[in-house]
Amino acid sequence: MILDGKKISEQIKTEITEEVKIFSAKNNFVPGLGCILVGSIPASEYYVKSKVKSCGEVGFYSKLNKFDSTISENDLLFEIEKFNNDAKIHGILIQLPLPNHINEEKILQSVIPEKDVDGFNPINVGKLVLGQKTFVPCTALGILEILKRYKIETMGKHVVVVGRSNIVGRPIANLLSQKEYGNAIVTIVHSASKDIASFTKQADILIVAIGKPKFITANMVKNGSVVIDVGINRIQKGNESILIGDVDFENVKNVASAITPVPGGVGPLTIAMLLQNTLLAAKLSVGGNY
Ligand code: NDP
Repeated sequence: MILDGKKISEQIKTEITEEVKIFSAKNNFVPGLGCILVGSIPASEYYVKSKVKSCGEVGFYSKLNKFDSTISENDLLFEIEKFNNDAKIHGILIQLPLPNHINEEKILQSVIPEKDVDGFNPINVGKLVLGQKTFVPCTALGILEILKRYKIETMGKHVVVVGRSNIVGRPIANLLSQKEYGNAIVTIVHSASKDIASFTKQADILIVAIGKPKFITANMVKNGSVVIDVGINRIQKGNESILIGDVDFENVKNVASAITPVPGGVGPLTIAMLLQNTLLAAKLSVGGNY
């Protein structure tokens, strides 16, 4: 079975559109997302544009502030502070990566926790680790949503997560190990792991987020397992530039019982979850609950 992230994301966007109508009728404002883009990396420009476009589709207000890659760290902090204080903005997105002269950690910490819809502020990361309600990073939340909507059982299952980044690997591994979200047995492997296949072959659910094209091959996957491919790698195929995942989709789909494609798997869910978190931030701003 192909796990169709595009279809689920469209469903979620329709649900959010309906919720926004009800929310704005009651509160006289719409949820707003403030986006910050530094420099002109084509992939980053593409992602930010998709996020802004999606905001329009569901009835959100959005504002995109673009800056030259030479902007100083202090000036960028000042710009974030403006969004922190802007009543029309409920969520702030800083498109990563940032130029080398800017301390990414410092920038992410400057987004106030109430508007941290990416879930990267240390206060929200701490809450997540402690199992408290907070903003969950969008890609991890998207993976949970795919598992939930396709009714894939996680309780007591062995989940193997390949990759331990703060953006994907760590949060999804943490959430799935928690009783409330996954109640699974979780193994994390990374670049220092020897014989990765010996771990991945044990996985009932295999989640891969490393950024290495077709790294996971069919002989590394257990028969009947569920494979979630987070990787987005742009490669040249003839004259064409195409996107492929970290999993050798064409061969692994014959071994797995269910698999996400790239593109059209986790990617669209990440954007849908950003919208969901922004709606949540707007609700919290008027006294709503998680
Ligand atoms: P990072 O580069 O931040 O982290 C990569 C992780 O993979 C690290 O933990 C690294 O290990 C590990 N790793 C790298 N090489 C290997 C290897 N050969 N064997 C085992 N582990 C390895 O990447 P991200 O987590 O940010 O992104 C991963 C991929 O997911 C990328 O392709 C990215 O584009 C994509 N992505 C997709 C999203 C979506 O919406 N679908 C959202 C975010 C990312 P170590 O810690 O030891 O260095």
